[in-house]
Amino acid sequence: MNQYVSTRGRSLSVPSHKAVIKGLAPDGGLFTPLDLSIHCDPATLLGKSYPQTAETILHLFMNDYSKEQLHAAVTAAYGKGGQAGANFDTPDVVPVVPYRDGYLAQLWHGPTSAFKDLALTLLPHLMTQAFEMDGLDVTIAILTATSGDTGKAALAGFKDVAHTDITVFYPEVGVSGVQKRQMQTAGGDNVHVCAVKGTFDDCQRMVKEAVSSPQVAAALDGVILSSANSINLGRLLPQVVYYYFAYCRLVEDGAVKVGEPVNFVVPTGNFGDILAGYLAKQLGLPVGKLICASNSNNVLTDFLKTGTYNARRPFHTTMSPSMDILVSSNLERLLFLKSGGDDGLVRDLMKQLSEKGSYTVSGSLLASIQQDFAGFWTSENQCQMTIHDMYMENGQLIDPHTAVAVAALDQYRQTSGDTRPAVVLSTASPYKFCTSVLTALTGKAPDDEFTAMKELNQLTEVPVPPGLANLLDLPVRFTESIEPEDGMAYIASSMKKLSARNK
Ligand SMILES: *Cc1c(COP(=O)(O)O)cnc(C)c1O
Repeated sequence: MNQYVSTRGRSLSVPSHKAVIKGLAPDGGLFTPLDLSIHCDPATLLGKSYPQTAETILHLFMNDYSKEQLHAAVTAAYGKGGQAGANFDTPDVVPVVPYRDGYLAQLWHGPTSAFKDLALTLLPHLMTQAFEMDGLDVTIAILTATSGDTGKAALAGFKDVAHTDITVFYPEVGVSGVQKRQMQTAGGDNVHVCAVKGTFDDCQRMVKEAVSSPQVAAALDGVILSSANSINLGRLLPQVVYYYFAYCRLVEDGAVKVGEPVNFVVPTGNFGDILAGYLAKQLGLPVGKLICASNSNNVLTDFLKTGTYNARRPFHTTMSPSMDILVSSNLERLLFLKSGGDDGLVRDLMKQLSEKGSYTVSGSLLASIQQDFAGFWTSENQCQMTIHDMYMENGQLIDPHTAVAVAALDQYRQTSGDTRPAVVLSTASPYKFCTSVLTALTGKAPDDEFTAMKELNQLTEVPVPPGLANLLDLPVRFTESIEPEDGMAYIASSMKKLSARNK
């Protein structure tokens, strides 16, 4: 059976369904596959639908689930192969479309119009099956920090799912007007949303701290904590699927022969999406370089160049808010894998990060990371120009996160001379960031996001995703906001209420 170990103590080893239930390991580490001897040849996946591809890949990683369980979960999330499922607005699930310099893998055709939907339509099913396997009769309280997109995707995924309760924390300033409205209007009896007067990093720290907080532990009675963030293994593994799926489309399109490498460009925040690409490469997918694209919060660009990760730097609020992150949690998993599972090293580096705000890896570890990864960052100005040029020259309307990646590919090609075929992961619908996108196209936009939405639609005639078009008609349910220092007290108090309600 596949086992997953904590990056901070590899003697702790669990099968995948237990990692899905727990989210974060009790020692604060992240569950990671130590044994990557599993293999998948993309030739076996040519012509397969998205759900079929997902079943094959997930079974390799999660063989404590039966094939029937995975089939049921995948079908509920992505529909039956070749037919549009209830969740996605296209039967392809992930359309892969060419543009002048490469391909865009459109990961935003799900219910909340961001790539997080690919994992978060599936995770609730994996979680309820995991309860059944272990005969658990508890309520799982899912605490989730969001930089904008995870929040709504998790709220939609867990809405009214039995035995679950979900709370989302988002930064009060920074998320787009559409993102904020999506969260404030979330439906369901088991959902809570709270703004935090701080950054995403504050939200993420609160959620991680809650796992080991005595104050929170004392409030849990018949309730266990978990997370829907990309620190949860159940978020990470479903993301491996679209790397394979996109590669197969390039083979079918004649861009590469099976076995020839493809580069992937990934707009990166918490390092979850790109880490799934690294797992795909370990599994045998011919991946050339993984190009890590950042906005002006370019902590990862510097790390990949110098080996020093320094989170002590000015924080920028940008037009790609889902990447406004200075502490990229999933990098911990890469350090673990690249150091051959050196949990002592990871513990030491993470301690330095939390105490001094920085750490430096050895030259040999950096060199090994640089074999697979390259990092580039895109300024706000460059991001706007890229949105403009992609629309004018390629007829592709893209969102700011995708634009950061398109611009990173340009830079990578110019500096490396490596022009092999590339897939840019397109992570959000442009309609989640209407004022930024409209400003990029026309030089101006109304302040109100929903007026901008209308104008963007009139200008481009690109349809507005249904989940965004109706947002103004939904009542606002959640307006609470707290200071980061009050996080543990807030969580403890809501856990107390939840425990009492279950009695
Ligand atoms: C979350 C998100 C990202 C960053 O993904 P990570 O897995 O956090 O690196 C990029 N773009 C969009 C639109 C997102 O929502």
